[in-house]
Amino acid sequence: AEEQLLQAQKMEAIGQLTGGIAHDFNNLLTGIIGSLELMQTRIRQGRFDAIERYAGAAMASANRAAALTHRLLAFARRQPLAPQPTAANPLIAGMEELLRRTLGERVELALVTAADLWLTLCDPHQLENAVLNLAINARDAMPEGGRLVIETGNARLGDADARLEAGARAGSYVSIRVSDTGTGMSPEVAARAFDPFFTTKPLGQGTGLGLSMIYGFARQSEGHVRIESEPGRGTAVTLYLPRHRGVAEPESVASDRTVLHRA
Ligand code: ADP
Repeated sequence: AEEQLLQAQKMEAIGQLTGGIAHDFNNLLTGIIGSLELMQTRIRQGRFDAIERYAGAAMASANRAAALTHRLLAFARRQPLAPQPTAANPLIAGMEELLRRTLGERVELALVTAADLWLTLCDPHQLENAVLNLAINARDAMPEGGRLVIETGNARLGDADARLEAGARAGSYVSIRVSDTGTGMSPEVAARAFDPFFTTKPLGQGTGLGLSMIYGFARQSEGHVRIESEPGRGTAVTLYLPRHRGVAEPESVASDRTVLHRA
């Protein structure tokens, strides 16, 4: 009976993972289709100036989709996702174009990156997916437009800290806070927001997997995640990912550059 329970739990975990990947994959496909539609329109109008940019956008999304399927294959081969020392500021800065396209023209985007941000130990691809999912949720909560702020920071959380969930470890974290000026959540919705398959969106528009994937990512990374929301005012979701304590290896980036210069 115990083995059966274990098997059921395993199946549930696999279902959540693949569901989450399907969700992320679908987001990327939506981006690719959008770019292709824009290209079609421009071609019909005989206006070719922006086509290269749209092709670039489609290519970037397609590359992300390919990376996702690699992750799925890696999972099938039972290679656990490898956390690595990650610099959140350049990672988020590198997503600016993608985020602007995802948010559309009615949402203002502000990136507020802390100086001297610690490195965090996490899977950078999962962090990208988490930020993208949070931005999509924020966009959906601001149908009339609004403002999305992504803010990074160093956070020392003590045992008595209200930002620390029950059972979470006190310590040093890198915080990534995604806040919007949208509809906010009622206390009932906020209480269930992390549940797999919980969604308030119409059928076909929400899977209810975004926040549960983010919760899983935070816990797997030995970090945590906090929602603050006020109906009618907006929502802030903050990811706390553990500070990387080992010796940093920023040289790998620098030496890549050196090689490029020499070539
Ligand atoms: P989905 O977005 O597919 O519904 P999620 O797990 O990402 O799934 O979110 C679950 C629910 O939490 C959403 O349906 C929505 O009701 C609520 N929610 C999530 N993010 C926000 C936000 N930024 N503002 C308001 N409500 C939100």
